[in-house]
Amino acid sequence: MAMRIPENILEDILSRIDIVELISSYIPLKKAGRNFKANCPFHHEKTPSFTVSPDRQIYHCFGCGESGNAFKFLMRHERMDFPEAVEALAKKAGVILPAQESAVPSRQASLNERLYKVNELALEFYEGNLYGESGAACRAYLGSRGIKPKTAREFRLGFATSRWDGLITYLRSKNVALSLMEKAGLILPKDSGGYYDRFRNRVIFPIFDIRSRLIGFGGRVMDSSLPKYMNSPETAVYTKGKNLFGLSLSKDHIRKNDLALIVEGYMDFILPFQEGVNNLVASQGTALTADQIRLLKRYTHNVVMIYDGDSAGEMATLRGLDMFVEEGMAVKVVPLPKDADPDVLVRRDGPDCLRDKINNAVSLFDFKLKVLKNRHDIKDAHGKSRIAEEMLFTIGKIGNAILRAEYIKRLSEELGVSEGSVLEELKKLKAGPPSRRHDADSAQPPARSVVKIHPAEKLLIKFMLEEKELAERIMQELSPSDFADERTAKVFSLMHDLCSQGKNVEPSVLMNYFGEDTAGQIVCESMFMPDLLGQEREKAVRDCITRIKVQRLRSKREQLHLQIKDAQSVGDKERLGVLFREFHNLLKKGD
Ligand SMILES: [Zn+2]
Repeated sequence: MAMRIPENILEDILSRIDIVELISSYIPLKKAGRNFKANCPFHHEKTPSFTVSPDRQIYHCFGCGESGNAFKFLMRHERMDFPEAVEALAKKAGVILPAQESAVPSRQASLNERLYKVNELALEFYEGNLYGESGAACRAYLGSRGIKPKTAREFRLGFATSRWDGLITYLRSKNVALSLMEKAGLILPKDSGGYYDRFRNRVIFPIFDIRSRLIGFGGRVMDSSLPKYMNSPETAVYTKGKNLFGLSLSKDHIRKNDLALIVEGYMDFILPFQEGVNNLVASQGTALTADQIRLLKRYTHNVVMIYDGDSAGEMATLRGLDMFVEEGMAVKVVPLPKDADPDVLVRRDGPDCLRDKINNAVSLFDFKLKVLKNRHDIKDAHGKSRIAEEMLFTIGKIGNAILRAEYIKRLSEELGVSEGSVLEELKKLKAGPPSRRHDADSAQPPARSVVKIHPAEKLLIKFMLEEKELAERIMQELSPSDFADERTAKVFSLMHDLCSQGKNVEPSVLMNYFGEDTAGQIVCESMFMPDLLGQEREKAVRDCITRIKVQRLRSKREQLHLQIKDAQSVGDKERLGVLFREFHNLLKKGD
């Protein structure tokens, strides 16, 4: 519960922001009765179950359970943390945040800000080099690789000369401390004391994050010396596995095409992009992480991996693709001929050649099967089992049962064995449906199923949120411990506290108290339960209270029953006596 910003300011911001307007600036919303609907941006679906309520200023997805208020939407959709989302919406709403209670923890914020700034200064230096006298050879090199001057400017390419202290000298002249240059990963300490430039005699590719902030650099040699590529180390603002090169430029194209092409290197990105194939990201040569995949998933659920011939056939590469499957994305593969990177292909044969290949991409299933058939003898029992094992590894990660069944059928046909035996092997693998991840420190949501709680508990929360008098009545009759689910109990007790302090308990405001806690989800979920009016509502309230009380008694009884059994088994007569008395008291109260 990160509540560093006063509640009244959060409320003020929310009251000036319209959630429908906010969300529709990201995804198209369609009016549906009192609410608005869309295909959920957080999970893959064909029929819209993502619902936004203008009355309540909250959203909820009936498919994946994702829900929240305007802050939460920004956090999920733009991968912001809570303070960042507050800052962004405050700006939009024209609300000034109190300076001393700056949204972002100030020391960290100022370091991050300083790092962006020093990176920006470094880039000015590298760009200056490229377009100055020392950059002639580099400009010629870029030209020879097919990069037009306009493109070089657009990507803000630069050049690091072979001097050992070129950048250091420049940044010193701008009064940048050596310690900050080191923190930005721009310089390295010498054994003999002092520092030297990390990037020397390389083309410089600036790396921007999704919000177009300059977080690091990649450097490529212009000849055959090694290492071919060198990147910034991880810094406070640059985490390799959490960013994708080029996404800030390509995200809208990816969304529009509903497809992301994944290439390896910087050049593989820039050349096709220049020629109008814009829906790309570059993996920078490594397997994508779950964070990167989720980042991409915000824009599309369809990816085509474009590999050069060598790496496409690698089992490790193919296994890396299973992660996409696990995230519910559709993956296809374009294997390119050996020594034909996308950039070479585009330069030599034009962008249409690449487009053709993309249109003819094969599904991961077919591609993997083909690689395996080349590797193992499908006629031989041993080969069959090896192929089955690898294929089932992928199939086991498919969340959609129908799709999974379809692939099992196809695999059994390919192998010439019964579907039953394939299924049996799958069970042995125990891969099952996609696993639920719990990485609390990742801003991106873990795939989350709809919270299952007894409807009576949720319905009561809804009534309480809708009607203040009703809330007071219910609070007199029940206490948090009456709720079987700890999350509804949490919501109940928070409402209790707020009401007794005379505070606002609007659903969208209530959400602010929960942060990442899934209990917050219940607030939204319950608000989207069907409305009940008049007599029907009155009856439902009574029913819910009774049901919760009965449930409570029942679980107490079950608990006592277990305790009694326990005491019996160890022969604790004294304890048994106490427990029996309790049990009888409970029966008198019960149904
Ligand atoms: Zn959803």
